Amino acid sequence: MEKDNLDSLRQQIRGVTAEIMQKIQERMDLARQIGDVKNKMNIDVKDEKVEQEVRLAVMKQAGELGMDKDFALRLLSILLSESEAVQARGRKSAAPKQTHLGIFQKARQLEESGKKMIHLEVGEPDYPAPESVGNALSDAFRSKKYHYTETAGIPQLRNAIAQIAGVGRDEVIVTPGGRFAVFSAIAGLIKPGQEIITIEPAWPAYRECAEFIGAKTRVLRTTFESQWTPDLSELESLVNEGTKMIAINYPNNPTGKTVDRKTLSAIVSIAQKHDLYLLSDEVYSEYAFGQFHGVLGFGYEKSIVVSSFSKTYAMTGFRIGHAIASPDIIKKMTKVQAVGVTSVAEPIQHAAMAALSEDASANVRLVEKRLKFVCSKLDQMGLKFVKPTGAMYVYPQLPFGEDMPIVESLLERGLAIAPGSGFGDSYSGFVRISACRPEDELARGLEILSSVLRAA
Ligand code: PLP
Repeated sequence: MEKDNLDSLRQQIRGVTAEIMQKIQERMDLARQIGDVKNKMNIDVKDEKVEQEVRLAVMKQAGELGMDKDFALRLLSILLSESEAVQARGRKSAAPKQTHLGIFQKARQLEESGKKMIHLEVGEPDYPAPESVGNALSDAFRSKKYHYTETAGIPQLRNAIAQIAGVGRDEVIVTPGGRFAVFSAIAGLIKPGQEIITIEPAWPAYRECAEFIGAKTRVLRTTFESQWTPDLSELESLVNEGTKMIAINYPNNPTGKTVDRKTLSAIVSIAQKHDLYLLSDEVYSEYAFGQFHGVLGFGYEKSIVVSSFSKTYAMTGFRIGHAIASPDIIKKMTKVQAVGVTSVAEPIQHAAMAALSEDASANVRLVEKRLKFVCSKLDQMGLKFVKPTGAMYVYPQLPFGEDMPIVESLLERGLAIAPGSGFGDSYSGFVRISACRPEDELARGLEILSSVLRAA
């Protein structure tokens, strides 16, 4: 009897699934036709207003049907992404976008073929990691501290980080670099189809992580004219029922912008009001040339603060960073880390422990001085830029043309800089110059930039 019932239900569910598939195929055909019309009319594939109307209609229907709204939105998000992909397929493909890392790879290839390059494209300090870090690393080897550790990090290091931050140990996770902290926060907290808001120009990893797990990114664009200040009412207008996280980064890569406490407080309030996670990437917190304002001070329980040893202590290749969040969030991030890497290498955790007692202020002063030097040279060249108040970069506006042809001809002349469009689609009129090299090298690089711009 029960068996017959089960068979009949299974038969019905197969039928409903087939109907859904049929309807999805019909939807895709319609999307293709819409794409053709848009192409003829020469209008963008993406239309946020229409998307929002569809979203509201689906929410209403889900309410009437008694369907879980989150689930309905996730399904819709998958359908919208597929429509977009189908419509974009008919378009002439744009030139593939290059990030600063792509240019770095190209510069490396040129070096292999014997060309001399000046590297102003990556944010990698040229000064050494502290001596004590090297000593701790060899001590760890001698005392055989090279085993698997707790996934969230060795207790000593978590305790030390917790003590500095004024939080509990269960609010800390040690990660293989700030990048993996960003990844495990997004992968651990966001489901496919849900949405993340980023503020561009931005380090591309937030968008890349979101896309990797099948989430969607909504972008708040900031402008040179408004000194890269986020428009907070616009930020709030981007929030919809599918939004789960806002990702921010101050001091900012690539603009060098920092925000005041009032702006940060308003961003925290928007996250709080809409019950969103707030991912605050603060890997450049030490490189704030005025007072630094971080998200931790607001005590918002859905915030995740990402930090790194890479920039502060020149430890990029050690691959170690950390995040601070509520114990519940840390548990979710730890699950991702357990699946992906087991733990950060034990000797590296001991090395990081040593770094924590070092004073990084000389590094910070050096970068600040170099940035001033770059700014004065750019001023002499008549280039416009917003003066950086933090991080390691200047993001000048090109006087004409697009970033990629200029970046390519600079590469041929032996200078690598990052194209502005690697930090957001709207920024091909900018380039990013990293101040991580000595002044004489910066001067030679900027002389190449100046001569290429003059010759163009
Ligand atoms: N966050 C930002 C804004 C960065 O610019 C970078 C590196 O350039 C990172 C995070 C990653 O740093 P890590 O080396 O700790 O992964």
